[in-house]
Amino acid sequence: MPDQSFLHWPFFDEHHRALAVGLESWCAENLCLGDDAAPHDLDATCRSLVRRFGRDGWLAYTAPDPGVAAPLDVRTLCLIRETLARHDALADFAFAMQGLGAGPISLFGNAEQRRALARTRSGDAIAAFALTEQQSGSDVANIAMTARRDGNGYVLDGEKTWISNGGIADLYVVFARTGEAPGAKGISTFIVPGDAAGFSVAERLDVISPHPLARVAFDHVRVPASAMIGAPGEGFKIAMATLDVFRATVAAAALGFARRALDETLKRVRSRRMFDGALADLQLVQGAIAEMALDIDAAALLVYRAAWAKDSGAARVTREAAMAKLFATERAQRVVDKAVQLHGGDGVRRGHIVERLYRDIRALRIYEGASEVQKVVIARTMLAGG
Ligand SMILES: Cc1cc2nc3c(=O)[nH]c(=O)nc-3n(C[C@H](O)[C@H](O)[C@H](O)COP(=O)(O)OP(=O)(O)OC[C@H]3O[C@@H](n4cnc5c(N)ncnc54)[C@H](O)[C@@H]3O)c2cc1C
Repeated sequence: MPDQSFLHWPFFDEHHRALAVGLESWCAENLCLGDDAAPHDLDATCRSLVRRFGRDGWLAYTAPDPGVAAPLDVRTLCLIRETLARHDALADFAFAMQGLGAGPISLFGNAEQRRALARTRSGDAIAAFALTEQQSGSDVANIAMTARRDGNGYVLDGEKTWISNGGIADLYVVFARTGEAPGAKGISTFIVPGDAAGFSVAERLDVISPHPLARVAFDHVRVPASAMIGAPGEGFKIAMATLDVFRATVAAAALGFARRALDETLKRVRSRRMFDGALADLQLVQGAIAEMALDIDAAALLVYRAAWAKDSGAARVTREAAMAKLFATERAQRVVDKAVQLHGGDGVRRGHIVERLYRDIRALRIYEGASEVQKVVIARTMLAGG
């Protein structure tokens, strides 16, 4: 059992602690190896995970109930992602994307658009967030995809790449240039169904910690004007505000990977015999364990500080979320690397849990804003007066 003492920190309410305990048992029952979908069939595994999350009520936390005006509880999202990541990276992915994909609708959608959330919350629809383009990864304001006004709708043309759930999503939230102004002020946000005419998967992308990922193409995709989230030109603001909320949850997933790495390492160093004792008796090993535990606790403090600040009513938590993401993902990589080192040869055996964690953590330092971008964000908020 991992260290759960953090649940008694003042960031949490009783219902958070109860949820963490309930999810732990759910994971033990549902996330065992030998799942009903073959591990190599990523699409089927993700669909099955989303269905089961929906069936058992977990997706209700990814978006507000369309009928009730309640905000997202970011501490709950973080607790769920941390717990799932500790058990299974793909489960964390499947859960997280329902939240991020639906995020702009949850935060900025009108009553009609929010009705779509009933399907993402029940697991009947899979969601995707389509912002990145080939020439405008970190430079988000430079997107080129266009949405041209045509009669009572818009026509979308262009490509998006690195789209998680690309190919299996039922709805895509897409950012496209409507041209009200150059750069960041000329982008709008649209809901596009996965079966829209003119939409296609141009290429499936294979990465070191695989999940459904694709480059997707829009060739004269027509959507009604009612598919626009917010007002024309508000797309950049919507993307950034959505990332503000979900960035802390990326940090929480990193924390989950790091906790698992430490748990595996503690087991290993206690049981591994050498030099007339246990590996754990060696002081250099104890030094590594201390550094891992310290990185984890410091990351957890930043993650739940950001989540608590948002839940306490802060309009934006840009600095807090950027600090949490930067620190938790970078330090989780360091923790996992130490775990691999202390497992010796077993640590680099394909399929070993710490080898998987070594691959699972890597992309988190790149997506939803690379670490360097987080530093720029933190510095800007400080220079602007904190
Ligand atoms: C596994 C995975 C899943 C993804 N899922 C999605 C998704 O669902 N939806 C979506 O829209 N996008 C998604 N992305 C895209 C992701 O957000 C981009 O990869 C990310 O924004 C970086 O863009 P890029 O890959 O073009 O790298 P680039 O923008 O070319 O950046 C390359 C590197 O340059 C450095 N760098 C960048 N900016 C600065 C700076 N200001 N100062 C100093 N150094 C800098 C960083 O080291 C960065 O990693 C995903 C990416 C991955 C890898």
